[in-house]
Amino acid sequence: MAAPDLQTNVATEDEVVYCTVHPNVEATLRCNRCGRPMCTRCAVLTPVGYRCKQCVRQQQDTFFNAQFYDYLIAAGASVVISFVAAFFLSRIGFFYIAFLAAPAAGAAIGGVVRTLTGKRRGRYTAMIVGAGVALGALPLLMFNPLTIIIYLFLATGTAAAQFGLRL
Ligand SMILES: [Zn+2]
Ligand SMILES: [Zn+2]
Repeated sequence: MAAPDLQTNVATEDEVVYCTVHPNVEATLRCNRCGRPMCTRCAVLTPVGYRCKQCVRQQQDTFFNAQFYDYLIAAGASVVISFVAAFFLSRIGFFYIAFLAAPAAGAAIGGVVRTLTGKRRGRYTAMIVGAGVALGALPLLMFNPLTIIIYLFLATGTAAAQFGLRL
């Protein structure tokens, strides 16, 4: 199997270009960023044209430009603000106030984290903010379970949703 392949390769090298990743597959496309030949399996259609997977990955790395300390700030701010918000909510007798106040608190926490991290985007910010909001409210669960359970669902969701879940 190797021999005929090699022959074809040599004979048609001038006309046929092979995929950089798959040497046996004819390249029908070229990455418009690095110019490498690629097969349809390797090509990724982006808003700016066909690109190889490596270039797409590199673009994502520049897109997600959050630093390590951004995650620390995001975690710290979420836990602290969430604790304060949940604390006041747990003191209010009417649990249904949580339906209004929890999404507002989640939105506010998201806004604060965004301001503190200078609008840098992080791959894990959504998860960290969600976990931080939940963690901050958790200690208050024993004082006012109903309010805090509603809070946990709504505030965590609202805060995390602000940072999207890009993968
Ligand atoms: Zn490329
Ligand atoms: Zn390929």
